[in-house]
Amino acid sequence: MTRIVYLNGDYVPAEEAKISIFDRGFLMADGVYEVTSVLDGKLIDFAGHLARLERSLSELGMEMPMSGEDLLAVHRELVARNGVVEGGVYLQITRGVADRDFLMPEGLAPTVVLFTMSMVLKGSPKAEKGLSVGLAEDLRWARRDIKTVQLLYPSMAKTAAVKAGFDDAWMVEDGAVTEGTSNNAYIVTRDGKIVTRQLSNDILHGITRAAVLKMAAEAQMVVEERAFTVEEAKAAAEAFVTSATTFVMPVVSIDGTVLGDGKPGPIARRLREIYIEESEKLAV
Ligand code: PMP
Repeated sequence: MTRIVYLNGDYVPAEEAKISIFDRGFLMADGVYEVTSVLDGKLIDFAGHLARLERSLSELGMEMPMSGEDLLAVHRELVARNGVVEGGVYLQITRGVADRDFLMPEGLAPTVVLFTMSMVLKGSPKAEKGLSVGLAEDLRWARRDIKTVQLLYPSMAKTAAVKAGFDDAWMVEDGAVTEGTSNNAYIVTRDGKIVTRQLSNDILHGITRAAVLKMAAEAQMVVEERAFTVEEAKAAAEAFVTSATTFVMPVVSIDGTVLGDGKPGPIARRLREIYIEESEKLAV
């Protein structure tokens, strides 16, 4: 079955969706994106992704191309047309098409692209085994809070980590972990506290992070939002990452140091269950 994608107002077969070589997304990475996961054909944390999209656009001086309601309708239409039961919807908005110029042109019609991805999320075998993460110096730009399509460095870091035999990498700045290449990073201290870096321009403000921290607090878990060092991470009782498409994913080793018994820890497992259960209830 050919995949139907959305491009600037039209639903078209993927192979017919074409954009200009002068698109600023292509020439300058002048665009932002969101990935919303789908469970049982419904969208998870949609309101959070919409709010962050609006913020990312506004930080780059762009406007929402359509209302939130209309964007939701496009997401739903694509999920329905492609029969997606479990997976995600990728959305990208670029400033649009113009002759190459460092000066950002004003008033362009944005390029709006959405496509679906079918994936196994709930029953992911990786959640049973846990991830091994390597480490990479965080060499990204200083506005990591804006979800731009400028993903070259995290892509290089993940590729190097996988070549070195890890599943992913955690990025490190001044000895402290910022986040994973495409997820937020957490440790659980030996006295049971969940520690994750505080929000700032240094990390992406994960939508899953916000939901998981709220659920952790409701489950009487202790959360500390602060930077943690690589040494602290290696000495932790357990660790995990969060993102829209991995939910809560246990981490069982960091840079070759095995945490605990090398199996997903009880807090990560519990949070994964809670997150999936609660998100399914709130899905739209
Ligand atoms: N940090 C980075 C660098 C990411 O790329 C992502 C996922 N795109 C996240 C964190 C997790 O964000 P979310 O929970 O909104 O998917």
